[in-house]
Amino acid sequence: MSTAAIIVAAGRGARAGADIPKQYRLLLGRPVLAWSVAAFAEAGVETIVVVHPPGAAEQARAALGDHNAILVEGGATRTDSVRAGLGAVQDADVILIHDAARPGLKATLVRDLIARVRQGAVAVAPGLPVPDTLLRADESGRVTGELDRAGAMRAQTPQAFAAAALHAAYAAAADAIFTDDLAVVRAQGGETRLIAGDPRLMKITYPEDAAMLERMLSGERIVCVGNGVDAHRFGPGDHVTLCGVQIPHDRGLVGHSDADAGWHALVDALLGALGQGDIGAHFPPSDPQWKGADSERFLHHAVNLATTAGARIVHVDITLICERPKIGPHRDAMRARTAEVLGLSLDRVSVKATTTERMGFLGREEGLAAQATATLDRPA
Ligand code: MG
Repeated sequence: MSTAAIIVAAGRGARAGADIPKQYRLLLGRPVLAWSVAAFAEAGVETIVVVHPPGAAEQARAALGDHNAILVEGGATRTDSVRAGLGAVQDADVILIHDAARPGLKATLVRDLIARVRQGAVAVAPGLPVPDTLLRADESGRVTGELDRAGAMRAQTPQAFAAAALHAAYAAAADAIFTDDLAVVRAQGGETRLIAGDPRLMKITYPEDAAMLERMLSGERIVCVGNGVDAHRFGPGDHVTLCGVQIPHDRGLVGHSDADAGWHALVDALLGALGQGDIGAHFPPSDPQWKGADSERFLHHAVNLATTAGARIVHVDITLICERPKIGPHRDAMRARTAEVLGLSLDRVSVKATTTERMGFLGREEGLAAQATATLDRPA
């Protein structure tokens, strides 16, 4: 029992009128494609496939940031692209197919669609009623007729399917071209259903759509606070590195990397606010490539993860805990370095120090510890 999502991102985006395809443009600082990938990942979808335009794998990879997805090259039509994606999800029992141009996807809707299929639905999609009168008009604008609006619904994506039925419908559809995957199943006599759609799932089609969607999504942000703790043992040496600043000392700090406890605690605080594990998971101490590494690399990595998630670092606060070296004379330099790497103004960065009144391992100067808090605001 596993779920897979196929995100169709193979369009050239000509209608939205810009030089790069719409799925790679930024929406609130995050590539359009990454929004959908993040929603599927948050919903626990095991396999995510991105179908990109032929020859555009690099562009798709860059738009994913740190998200994991299988990249598949698309075809000439949307139907060809879906077929290519289906080839990569043979093991799933529930398959969702989604258009990358609908980035306003929420994990709750994904979970709801999966649940409907697990309860026995063959094909289910979000849909919205059509509130406007529907008219036909010729190119001059002359109205030539009216369409019956009763029962009319706008189908959105993702559309969720029992995998066996979907594979069978596509196999039976031969070379037919469809604009919608519900139609493929319906063409084979399968029952298809709609559940309540979401206005935020609007498709980016025209240039002004992205701005409208940004307004709809930008209000939905939450503040997350992460904390981090780190400690390193003193050993032989003539300096310590704390918050990116080298401080002369009669001992050094022992660690696999440069043992910058201040920034290690800060990286863990940032990862905590993002819900993305801890520094050891991202930079395993067992991996020789991090031996002696400058912790600035770890901090840059956390900042990149925040950017990819559409998060903004609001404020960070670091407390160094030691008897010696004295932190006070170096505090301003540490603040400045940290602010520089995070791209924040100084008033958003705090570095403090305390002792343990000579109690415990820190009081005996066996080592040095740090604690950090990071406040981020990020998409809900
Ligand atoms: Mg450490």
